[in-house]
Amino acid sequence: MSPTPNLLIRDAELQSGARVDVRLASGRIERIAPGLPPRDGEAVIDARGRALSVGLHDHHLHLMAHAAALESLPCGNPVIGCVTGFSELLLMRARMEDPSAPGWIRGIGYHESVAGPIDRRWLDAVAPRVPVRIQHRSGRLWILNTCALRRLGVDENDAKSSRGTPLERIDGRLTGRIFDGDEWLSARLAGTYPSLARTSEALARLGVTGVTDAGARNGRGEFGHFVAERRGGRLKQDVQVMGNAELDGLADVAGIRVGPTKLYLCDAELPSFEDFCHAIARSHAAGRPVAIHCVTRGELIFATAALRQCGPLRGDRIEHASVAPPEGVELLRELGLTVVTQPHFVLERGDSYLDEVDREDLPWLYRGRGFAEVGIALAAGTDAPCGELNPWTAMSAAVSRRTRKGSLIGPDEALSPAEALALFTGDANDPGGSSRRIESGAAGDLCLLNRSWEAALGDLAAVGVDATIKDGRVIWRRS
Ligand SMILES: [Zn+2]
Repeated sequence: MSPTPNLLIRDAELQSGARVDVRLASGRIERIAPGLPPRDGEAVIDARGRALSVGLHDHHLHLMAHAAALESLPCGNPVIGCVTGFSELLLMRARMEDPSAPGWIRGIGYHESVAGPIDRRWLDAVAPRVPVRIQHRSGRLWILNTCALRRLGVDENDAKSSRGTPLERIDGRLTGRIFDGDEWLSARLAGTYPSLARTSEALARLGVTGVTDAGARNGRGEFGHFVAERRGGRLKQDVQVMGNAELDGLADVAGIRVGPTKLYLCDAELPSFEDFCHAIARSHAAGRPVAIHCVTRGELIFATAALRQCGPLRGDRIEHASVAPPEGVELLRELGLTVVTQPHFVLERGDSYLDEVDREDLPWLYRGRGFAEVGIALAAGTDAPCGELNPWTAMSAAVSRRTRKGSLIGPDEALSPAEALALFTGDANDPGGSSRRIESGAAGDLCLLNRSWEAALGDLAAVGVDATIKDGRVIWRRS
């Protein structure tokens, strides 16, 4: 990478209200003072009094799932609408691929009413040079073109290469259709990961300079993909990678570092208590804290009981803690656990929670104040693509506690705007600890908002980001 040029941000407002110039050099904040004279060859951003924040860190999301969802082509009738037909849509999408190294086109929601019972030949006629797989709306059928079959190691002329597979043959010819073949397909696709470029750009536009990927299945392959995407410049944020035991002992590379072991709990099929304690102990022995997915009361009690049995390690955290009754909060506090919450689910899903969640659980949903007032470290993540990617919406929901239809859920749990901002300004390794600061020597990870601090904190949902700076480089700027 070329050396980072110096950058001078002039007349920015810090959260303290001070208006200063901020100089970045060699990827870090070099100096903060009013009226710094620009140096030769230094890039200058004139902030004109707008608010300067540390870059945000999203403490829980799923980069690859978000990227895959962004890249999936909706193939159902209603979405197509604006183009004249499915073949035209596919052709347009195929043209967007790099001809020398085309990526997969993954279509979802197809139905025969769109273009009939399509097959391999049909797809080959439209997109012969790009691997295409289209999922039927039923979820039970995939349709692949010849290029896709070859990518998966299937030779249409060699019957042996498809023997024992769920690939359909009619008169000895592969149709490209696969019925109930998800397992076969995902085994073959292992190691093909989506480009993170669009997800990374979307994050940069929102002022996000670092994320924690919360994938429970992340192993060496996924870690390697993050590293490759970061080195290739497609991924501009640092990533803390949660995942499985394969990540034990992996060294940090290029802003990609190993995070806690992600442990998944589901009320309907809880593991044996002993096995679960064993998984925690193994992670702790490897020097890695655990991050335990808990969305119900039962899961929270199970997780905290296991952590009490094993003894907590600094950095152990509970993901979601969606329902946290007082006895659960007490256990979290006692064990010194961190909670990583999703306040925007109150907004995005609140109206259905009001219908579906037990009345007695409603006051304990996605709590804020209840954790903060007893000193539990609290941070937030968007859980994208399960939630919207926008941390500003999440902050706003933590303050308003309003559903989309305007109902209130747990109004006593509301945080102040500054507390809501702090959900996203902690360190990756210490979510909910003290916020990173704009000070000389600190990493050059910043975002310049499109308004003053007073206006930003007055309406967090309305905040826009004018520039995002990662390691002293502008990674996004509003044109
Ligand atoms: Zn998640």
